[in-house]
Amino acid sequence: MKVEVKRIVERIENLGGISDESHCLSRFYGTPAHKRAGDLLIQWMENAGMEVFKDSIGNIRGVLKSPRAKAKHFVIGSHYDTVFKAGKYDGPLGILLGIEVAQRISENAIELPFHLNIVAFADEEGSRFNTAYLGSSALVGEFDEIWLNRKDDNVHTLKEVVEKNEGNVTHIFKEYIPKEDWLGYFEVHIEQGPVLCEKDLPLCLVSSIATQTRVNIAWDGVCGHAGTYPMHLRSDALCAAAEFTLEVEKIGKAYNDKLVATIGKLNVEPNISNVIPGVVTHSLDVRSPDDLLLAEITKELKYKAETIAKKRGLNYHWEIMQTNPSVSCDAQLKAALSKSIKKANINSLLEIPSGAGHDAVMISKVAPVSMLFVRCKDGISHNPLEYTAPEDINEALNVCNNFIEEIIEISNTKNK
Ligand SMILES: [Zn+2]
Repeated sequence: MKVEVKRIVERIENLGGISDESHCLSRFYGTPAHKRAGDLLIQWMENAGMEVFKDSIGNIRGVLKSPRAKAKHFVIGSHYDTVFKAGKYDGPLGILLGIEVAQRISENAIELPFHLNIVAFADEEGSRFNTAYLGSSALVGEFDEIWLNRKDDNVHTLKEVVEKNEGNVTHIFKEYIPKEDWLGYFEVHIEQGPVLCEKDLPLCLVSSIATQTRVNIAWDGVCGHAGTYPMHLRSDALCAAAEFTLEVEKIGKAYNDKLVATIGKLNVEPNISNVIPGVVTHSLDVRSPDDLLLAEITKELKYKAETIAKKRGLNYHWEIMQTNPSVSCDAQLKAALSKSIKKANINSLLEIPSGAGHDAVMISKVAPVSMLFVRCKDGISHNPLEYTAPEDINEALNVCNNFIEEIIEISNTKNK
């Protein structure tokens, strides 16, 4: 195994051991483990020859500066927060490949026609505040002030968490790269699906990223004694949530390959065995490559929730937390990436859409974006069993190095 690949694998293991839980990997935004992981990334970026800066939202930003006046920014990035019971590769793989690309440029004193930024985004998963892309939204100047008041399960606001980590909330709105200064964005990520395994390919291009809507739903019923309250008089919030959950499954299945819908998080109050549930809050996550279909189905689901609430005599609240349109990867960057794959002697002409959201969604608001998927074993992700073989990481690194050379060449030709 070559030294760079060995280093990536060691670092993935290293980061995989930094967790807020002792029995699994869990590194939510702004926790002590999240800070420790960030500190390590700072060190690695500095060792790779970059100037490093941690911004107020918590992104770790390494840069190799171009000597040219008016040079633009090219960004390679991925995220260092995780879901609960996460795998080690989701996020870190893309950051660590970026660090190796930068280190090679720095060690060989290659002159860059653009500033090369390697960014480890502080929050992509949205596990803590149910708002994804906190890190990348700050980098592009799209951070919404309203998010600072969002609360986590322990009732800390995002503002409190930023300040606890020595971030300055007013700086969040100033530390972005202006739209006119962007050259492009590139992210490598594990596929998180089975296509590459099925086709026996190490990697492939990403064509687009699906549109996604996140909703928080609350059902307000009436608490009561589980032994004395007759069934026909109950307003059981959990039964309403359960009925709605089955409707979500039914609608999702009806659209099969065009749409996916999930309720992944549920809180029951008071959550006691002999009390009828009074309040139930839960998430709803709907995704599709088709923007219109997603909007239509979200509306239909809201109507279902309303009908269930009316029928059961309770109130419901529907709060859209986030909605992002689908994103197409940039044609010119895709062509350069395709060339880089060929140059690495990899016979992969495959292009697949991403059902998962990525920071590229947020960056696409200001810059052309591109993505590369790397095979993960059996398509398993968001799971401790997540695994990518060193041989596939090696192929990905070769493609990344070729790709940045392509971008240098394209920029030099343009600047002539
Ligand atoms: Zn990810």
